[in-house]
Amino acid sequence: MTFQELGLRPSILEAVEALGYVEPTPIQDKAIPLVLEGRDIIGSAQTGTGKTAAFSLPILSKLATPERSPRCLVLEPTRELAQQTYDNFLKFSRFTKLRAGIVYGGVGYGAQRETLQRGVDVLVATPGRLLDHIGQGTVRMDRIQFVVLDEADRMLDMGFLPDVKRILMRCPKKRQTLLFSATIPPAIESLSSWALVNPAKIEIGARRSPADTIRHVLYPVALAQKNDLLLALLDKVQWESVILFCRTRRSADQAAAFLKRHRHKAAVIHSDRTQRERQQALDGFKSGYYEVLVATDVAARGLDIADVSHVINYEVPEHPEDYVHRIGRTGRAQATGDAFTLMTAGDAPHVQGIERFISRKIERVRLEGFNYQYSALFDEDRLGSLADRKTRGVRLGKGYFFGPARRRR
Ligand code: AMP
Repeated sequence: MTFQELGLRPSILEAVEALGYVEPTPIQDKAIPLVLEGRDIIGSAQTGTGKTAAFSLPILSKLATPERSPRCLVLEPTRELAQQTYDNFLKFSRFTKLRAGIVYGGVGYGAQRETLQRGVDVLVATPGRLLDHIGQGTVRMDRIQFVVLDEADRMLDMGFLPDVKRILMRCPKKRQTLLFSATIPPAIESLSSWALVNPAKIEIGARRSPADTIRHVLYPVALAQKNDLLLALLDKVQWESVILFCRTRRSADQAAAFLKRHRHKAAVIHSDRTQRERQQALDGFKSGYYEVLVATDVAARGLDIADVSHVINYEVPEHPEDYVHRIGRTGRAQATGDAFTLMTAGDAPHVQGIERFISRKIERVRLEGFNYQYSALFDEDRLGSLADRKTRGVRLGKGYFFGPARRRR
């Protein structure tokens, strides 16, 4: 199908064309006709699949003429995702007279009140702040015709489901509801059976294989030398911009502080940072002021950061899907990119999980000229057996993380 054949309004098609979208992505192919038909939808699709256009294009098409009172509500778990979705709505509605607005927490109320007072057709919001506005009487929900619950599993993780339900109770019963979630755990299942009517299910599988344009390798290293190897990599490799992934907020802070101590311009984003700090980090990284953006999986998910020359996994991700997401940050739009994963002995089981997931073995490489303390690191058997010992709770003294090891029989 082409965009023209999907049944969208000419003013929306004009925007699609201006954006250079040639053909619909699979989720757009499936969702757009269903939304135009008036169906409720449960979509299990992740960011990066073209999900935002899949719901915004048909909704804008159906809204057609401006009324300046919110008729479409999009709930997002984080401010960044709200901002991104709002930016998309602006692009897609460029050739219409419809107006979009955004409200999220962590900033003052003044400008948001003004936006709401001037009137919007589409409102993108995070749940907490929207409830505040509802409580203060600065926004009405009684004209809502479309509700989009985006990244519902993350709203669940972040404890927002009670707020989401409160908001839904303020919306008219006669409405169209679209729910998107990468996974559908039982709590989301029950939310959907409560909030949706006879929904059509759309499933777009998670991408299991990294793009061919990404060269991704493992750098095995002893825990004690991990930071040294990181500095050596940044020193020896030609890079322009790096996203450094960590598993936890704490290790992200520590890695950023370490890089700063070694005179790298690093910024950090994770969910404990204030909105101002996160926006400043993102803007600074996009403008090129910061060379390295240190991020957790949760904070980075869904952020549209293009043109990253290198991804470094400072810590191996716990979930194999996150590996594909993380390294997909480089090598976008046919550009080539590199992804390095620092791997210590304890990471071996997770690396095996990733290799099973992508059905491919990841090359182990050694950084030329780096003074490795333990050459046994490149011996697969040994890594495996050491990881086993570690998980069995054998105490490995400081500095003896990798040996001496007995051969596995
Ligand atoms: P999303 O999954 O909504 O975050 O979209 C991921 C990226 O794909 C965004 O940068 C969109 O602008 C882009 N995109 C969405 N739909 C299309 C399309 N049909 N053709 C090309 N790019 C698209």
